[in-house]
Amino acid sequence: MDTQKTILIVEDEKNIVDILRFNLQRSGYATVEAYDGADGLAKARNANPDLILLDVMLPNMNGFEVCKTLRDEGNNVPVIILTAREEEEDKVRGLEIGADDYITKPFSMRELVARVGANIRRTTSLSPAPENASGASSLSGELSINAESHMVFRAGRPIDLTQREYDLLTFLAANPNRVYSRVDLMEQVWNYGYVGDDVRTVDVTVRRLREKIEENPASPVYIRTRRGMGYYFSSGAEA
Ligand code: CA
Repeated sequence: MDTQKTILIVEDEKNIVDILRFNLQRSGYATVEAYDGADGLAKARNANPDLILLDVMLPNMNGFEVCKTLRDEGNNVPVIILTAREEEEDKVRGLEIGADDYITKPFSMRELVARVGANIRRTTSLSPAPENASGASSLSGELSINAESHMVFRAGRPIDLTQREYDLLTFLAANPNRVYSRVDLMEQVWNYGYVGDDVRTVDVTVRRLREKIEENPASPVYIRTRRGMGYYFSSGAEA
């Protein structure tokens, strides 16, 4: 067993914090709590958590602002957004500003703990592309990846990817030209089974990844769409 992981809970409803703390601690995590956005941001910077559970509607500073500020500062700690069921657009917005995942209230503790575990395992894993036997650093064209440092470069310049974007890219690139459905990707990159509208998560993450690695995101040359089937990494063999 590796060292104990710390979860930062940023949530203004005390009863939710209490039940999250109880269940996370019972699952072996240490917890740090913040009851408003500003304190959440401060603790994200100072307590060095392994993952953040981040409510959207918070006093002082909302969850989106907290997440965006952290990402702007280059902090890539996994963030799971807690959204209310009626706030469908919050999910997409959260992913667009760099959250790794979201979970909808009311959530089951079992699902929440499973997602926390999945997101932490993903971050901790140092070999996200198991089938990439060569471990080669060059991907394709101007794009390259360094599996040791987890850095991705385009034309020699480092690209700032979230952990999820990195995992998605390396997963697809490990099997170039093989098409994966969004359900496949949910299971293999996100580590959990397909649930309801989660495929939107894949689409948004692909879009953000394209914006970072593609010269022209509207006409991608690396992460390509096979209409009606899914996504694949192009080896560049086709024009
Ligand atoms: Ca709230």
